[in-house]
Parts: sequence; structure tokens; C-alpha cells
Amino acid sequence: MPPAWQGPLPEAMPPSDVAVYQLPTGTYETRAAFAFTGGSFRDKRPFAATAILVTHPQGDLLIDAGFGSDIAAHVHAQPWFARAPYRATGTASEQLDASGYDRGGLRGVLITHSHWDHVSGLDQLHVPIWTNAGELQYAAKARDGKVFRTVSQGHEIHRYEFGNAPYLGFPSSYDVYGDGSVVVALAGGHTTGSVIVFVTLPGGKRYAFIGDVAWQLEGIRKPAQRPLLMRKLADVDAGQVRQDLLRVASLAGLLQVVPAHDVRAYDGIPRLSAPPIMAHT
Ligand SMILES: [Zn+2]
Repeated sequence: MPPAWQGPLPEAMPPSDVAVYQLPTGTYETRAAFAFTGGSFRDKRPFAATAILVTHPQGDLLIDAGFGSDIAAHVHAQPWFARAPYRATGTASEQLDASGYDRGGLRGVLITHSHWDHVSGLDQLHVPIWTNAGELQYAAKARDGKVFRTVSQGHEIHRYEFGNAPYLGFPSSYDVYGDGSVVVALAGGHTTGSVIVFVTLPGGKRYAFIGDVAWQLEGIRKPAQRPLLMRKLADVDAGQVRQDLLRVASLAGLLQVVPAHDVRAYDGIPRLSAPPIMAHT
């Protein structure tokens, strides 16, 4: 294990109504042996495809989009090693509507990266896609960018830029609302512009939505990289992923680390469809 982060926690002043909700859109089946070094082949893992809604008085954001209405085609578009049996349990768009959510409050979908299992649901979310120059370059050319190129058609692209402000050991970051509640850090190893989204709630609870820096919690807890074959197939810069993995592991005691595909990592994050009962005045 890398030593725990010793620096101060970054300042954050989230407004009182900042909150996070999970919108699980389905899972696809894989095995621990493919997910992290040392995992067992017999250990089947449902990989989560979950969108996160962050509410904020300046406008809400989704982090990733999960599975969309065209998921069958999006799975079929994958090379053999990424094609897997899947279960779709309702798109983010359907869940927003079912909860009575006001779409007017949604500013965009901030993607951790452009791979199919994170962006499929953009097909029903007609709001700007928030991403960065590195990821746009990657998605324009990569074979793994095919689904993104399809579902992003007709979307406005909101391109943000990283500043030089380091954040919890990551050299460059972007503070979305300027109050520290949502801070995006570049972790460009899985894809060129992959990011980690740090969220801080008013009560001080912190999350790190790390995308695919690790696929399962064991990746952070051990820590353990993806198996060599998967690093070669899935990462543009496995050395960078390793560095970012160690940075995240050093933070594990300070915040809830959420590898995008670990269903257990979302424990405690409320579902949008069943929000906590609040007293109305
Ligand atoms: Zn993924």
C-alpha cells in the first residue's frame, strides 16, 4: 500500500443542497481474473453501468450515462473480449423521468471517459457533453470511440480545461462550480483524457468517482492493476494508470472511492427513484 495522503484536504464550500444520487442502468458479466491481478476465474463479477447525478444550485450534472436505449447495438459493436452478457435495468433518462426530475436543471453529462459502457445512455440525454481536449482527440480516432462517435452526434460539446491547481496529488484539476463541490482531475492513462471526479457534500462526505482507473474495489484495496493482457487491450498508458491507482489508493481512508464498475462501491449512495423523505416548509 502507498502511504496515506498526509496533505490537507482541499477546501470546499458546497451549498446546502448539493447531493449525489445513483442511477444504476444495468450490469454486464465478467470475471475477477480479468478485472484485477490475482482475481479468480471462477469469481463472476457483474460490472456496474451506473450514472451519478450531482445536484447543485448552479445546475446539475450527471457523471457518466450508463446504458442507453440502444445498448444491444452498443454491446454488439464491441470486440470479442469486451462483448458480454448484460442486464439492462432502465436508462438514466427513464429514471430521471420516473422520479419527476425537472430536466431543465440538468446542465450536462460529465463523462469520466468515452468508452461505450460510460456513454451509451447519451442517446437519450439531450444535454451538452462535458469533456476535455485529450478525450475528444482520443474518441475521434480510437476503435473504442465508435459508440461515442454515434451517441454524441447532435450533442453540444462543453469542453473544459484543466488548470495547474494540484488536487489531492493530481497535478491538474478543474473546479466545476468554483466552490470545491465538484472537482475534475486528469488521470489520463486508461484513455487520453480520462478523469476522476471528486465530489464533496455539505456534511463533509467526499467521493472519488474514478471511472476505470480500477475496475473493482480490489484494484484500490490491494492495490492491484488490471491483468497484463487487459492493460494491453484497454489502457493507452498503463504506467500512468498505475501511478493514478496508487494516488487513489493513498486517499482511500479519506473518501469513498467508487470504481465505475464495482456494484459494491455505490453502497450508501441514494437511488434517485427513492430520495430520502424531506420535510417541506
Ligand atoms: Zn468502463
